[in-house]
Amino acid sequence: MLTLLKLLKDGRFHSGQALGAALGISRSAVWKQLQQLEIELGLSIHKVRGRGYQLAAPLTLLSAAEISEHSAACAWPVLVFDSIDSTNAQALRSIERGMAPPFLVLAERQTAGRGRRGRKWVSPFAENVYYSLVLRIEGGMRQLEGLSLVVGLAVMRTLQELGISGAGLKWPNDVLVGQKKIAGILLELVGDPADVCHVVLGVGINVNMQMTEEVDQQWTSVRLETGKAFDRNLLVAHLGDMLQAYLIRHQESGFAAIQAEWEQNHLWQGRAVSLIAGVNRIDGVVMGINRQGALRLKVGDVEKVFSGGELSLRLRNDS
Ligand code: ATP
Repeated sequence: MLTLLKLLKDGRFHSGQALGAALGISRSAVWKQLQQLEIELGLSIHKVRGRGYQLAAPLTLLSAAEISEHSAACAWPVLVFDSIDSTNAQALRSIERGMAPPFLVLAERQTAGRGRRGRKWVSPFAENVYYSLVLRIEGGMRQLEGLSLVVGLAVMRTLQELGISGAGLKWPNDVLVGQKKIAGILLELVGDPADVCHVVLGVGINVNMQMTEEVDQQWTSVRLETGKAFDRNLLVAHLGDMLQAYLIRHQESGFAAIQAEWEQNHLWQGRAVSLIAGVNRIDGVVMGINRQGALRLKVGDVEKVFSGGELSLRLRNDS
């Protein structure tokens, strides 16, 4: 089915006969595959008698060669999957099989994209970026401190470079434009964090997505913000360069060197929020973050510090 898609991706008309001949299948088998493309991948295909078949819009698929051509800094191998459960899950499997980091896993779509705490990341085919970069961490805990916030900052800067000046951060690691989520980050760790471990930096960025019924909170995409479709290979290349620069800064100087820049871009600085921790809820006002990336919240008259992967912030109505 994806071989057929690759023949159609130029957005031109192709006759059923030519497609069948290229794939070594009958015209009715071509027809069946076209229907599958529409149903399974949500693609729209024009069918015109006498001319053949045409994708409603040309598609640019992910390409490791294109990405490395446009990237100045990142030399890591890139694995591209047409369809996978989750790029983070695939990255973890590759680590288990002994693949040496750094390496990057990308997919055209995820059938079980992951958010935090078992939540789902909506991942339609060929529209967005689903990105998992695997690194080996040797410096112990210090190298992990604030790491997910650093990734958020790099994603935000990448989006700002594309012209989305309103992109900002929400603790711990969402990237929003106003109240709308444009990217999410999920770090997963294997090994001993105090010694040698592997970390998967999972990033989902909405790039060309214009419609979905599946996301249950406000969201946006690069295309919705700029009015233009964007080449995902270029975005992946830019993101790699940006991440590389921030990761080096973090490795050399620790999170403390990045704390102020992160806070300057925190959209909820000074806002009245509720911090949700499982069934518990703590109301307070956001003061900022500390040198480890933990949230500083003013609760009553007292400053309290919170960290951990199970925490979520929500704006309070009175903020
Ligand atoms: P937090 O817990 O920090 O408030 P969150 O509720 O946004 O964050 P995450 O685990 O970061 O949760 O992301 C998963 C959530 O993001 C989903 O429950 C859904 O509401 C939303 N979501 C899923 N897919 C997308 C997408 N493609 N774009 C924007 N938002 C999405």
